[in-house]
Amino acid sequence: MSVYLSLGSNVGNRLQNLQAAVERLRAELGVTVWKESRVYETEPVGDVDQGPFLNMAVSVETTLEPLDLLECVQSIEQEIGRERTRRWGPRVIDIDIVLWDDVVLTTKALTIPHPEFRKRAFVLAPLEDIAPVAKDPGTGLTIRELLRAGDVEGEVRLYSA
Ligand code: ATP
Ligand code: CA
Ligand code: CA
Repeated sequence: MSVYLSLGSNVGNRLQNLQAAVERLRAELGVTVWKESRVYETEPVGDVDQGPFLNMAVSVETTLEPLDLLECVQSIEQEIGRERTRRWGPRVIDIDIVLWDDVVLTTKALTIPHPEFRKRAFVLAPLEDIAPVAKDPGTGLTIRELLRAGDVEGEVRLYSA
């Protein structure tokens, strides 16, 4: 089974924040991190009055239920020092659950696949590194196909520290 997470940071030492998040995921019981994408730098989309993000994606396998994994990534966000300000505002770390095999789930707390991921270059580009042919159960398209589909927003560039 494969679960894909998207990570982003645009406050503080962004690379270190991403690395701290992946380390904590690795330390989590019931979570195995398989693949890590390269790191991309992206301009903020939507709420543009903030600095650029570093974004990456990881694949994990987990024995947790979806809501428990959400709780887990949210506690990692808190540990690394995310303060909840405005939605889509600047943040030390953001961890979203993008895909979970062919699971389609819509609850108040959790929507899988992530409702916005199909149009976000900063999610799709890192994901293409580690899972180009993973399928979106919503559209039946692969990550690579979604990225080429044309309605993808935002500029991404490979980041080298
Ligand atoms: P966006 O979800 O558009 O990327 P965001 O990441 O800035 O925005 P947050 O403030 O981090 O939004 O999260 C708001 C809420 O989104 C969370 O409390 C969580 O309950 C909910 N949520 C729904 N689906 C998901 C998902 N697939 N992954 C992570 N959080 C989700
Ligand atoms: Ca997000
Ligand atoms: Ca989030």
